Amino acid sequence: MNLNINQKVYLVSGGAKGIGGAISKVLAEEGAYPVIIDPSVKEGQNLVFEFESNGGKALHIPRRLTDSNAAKEAVEMAFQKFGRIDGVINNAGVNDGIGLEKGSPEAFRASVEKNLGHYYDLVYYALPHLKASKGSIVNISSKTAVTGQGNTSGYTAAKGGQLSLTREWAVELLKYGIRVNAVIPAEVMTPLYESWLKTFDNPEDKLNEIQKRIPLEKRMTTPREIADMVVFLLSDRSSHTTGQLIYVDGGYTHLDRAL
Ligand code: NAP
Repeated sequence: MNLNINQKVYLVSGGAKGIGGAISKVLAEEGAYPVIIDPSVKEGQNLVFEFESNGGKALHIPRRLTDSNAAKEAVEMAFQKFGRIDGVINNAGVNDGIGLEKGSPEAFRASVEKNLGHYYDLVYYALPHLKASKGSIVNISSKTAVTGQGNTSGYTAAKGGQLSLTREWAVELLKYGIRVNAVIPAEVMTPLYESWLKTFDNPEDKLNEIQKRIPLEKRMTTPREIADMVVFLLSDRSSHTTGQLIYVDGGYTHLDRAL
């Protein structure tokens, strides 16, 4: 299947590592130009080097999206380099364990802002370019938005907000032909997941226990499997799909895990 995204330009927040790193790679494989917005200098530079060595183009913006100005500047830099923006993949996030018992009102607000604010900011500043290109948007959320996890109120509130914004933006942007969808992972081995596992006394036992409960093939979803869905949703091969919340999780969220 030809995805027709050759030479198109996509902003990927957190695009240097984990799921975002896989999205950047699949975009590059398909001939698109990823703009990697991620503070990880070595990983970001290595990806750009890899893509350029294969004849592609890419840009690494070594910044953490902490305030709206960071998103504004990232959009400006991307447009300055490539002269167009065809899509936004809101992916950066951190499960920071701000709960009710182990948290505070201040920490809760900061966690929601850290995980949700830049999803809005990036789309807000990219919108004029997305209107011009009839672009598309994919928000990466989390199964915790619908299942809960315990002790992570800020993160789950933000993840739920991302699902609402997917529907809301899909409606608001109908008139421009801009499609907006969400991809919902459950258990994907990434640097973020590894650090979450380390919060347990015996991470290896915990991992085995989780994998046994994943219905399809009793294994983690790979970052590549998330990325393939994201890039399909960005492309015009999914041209009549908008406002959808798509679980790429081996059946983890919906199938009977007692089976
Ligand atoms: P990851 O391994 O931590 O990779 C995320 C990358 O984003 C890191 O390079 C990180 O840099 C960067 N980043 C974090 N905050 C940023 C910000 N504000 N601006 C720019 N870059 C930022 O995470 P992941 O597991 O791939 O997760 C990616 C997305 O999938 C997140 O939204 C997460 O909630 C979601 N998700 C993941 C899983 C899973 O099982 N892994 C499950 C459900 C949902 P630093 O390392 O320097 O912070």
